[in-house]
Amino acid sequence: MNTKIKKYCELCGSTFLLQNHHIFFSSLRKKSDKYDECQITLCWNCHLSEKGVHQNKELSLKVKRMAQNRMEEIYGREWFLKEFYKNYLDF
Ligand SMILES: [Zn+2]
Ligand SMILES: [Zn+2]
Repeated sequence: MNTKIKKYCELCGSTFLLQNHHIFFSSLRKKSDKYDECQITLCWNCHLSEKGVHQNKELSLKVKRMAQNRMEEIYGREWFLKEFYKNYLDF
């Protein structure tokens, strides 16, 4: 994989303390490291604050949906479900 920090937070557009976030973790983390689509550039507020993805389930789901959408555009849904087991767009 290739960690590319973008110039803006991909959720809010801020440039404040930008960091790379791995969208999928635990058992999916290793697999997802292969795909740029599984990483997202986030500012500190969207990443590590109490409102950020690590604390906020809704936001965490939102970025998973973004990743799924991006990957489905490239690889298709069947591939995504095989690789990631779950359809995050359905709940
Ligand atoms: Zn942000
Ligand atoms: Zn993170």
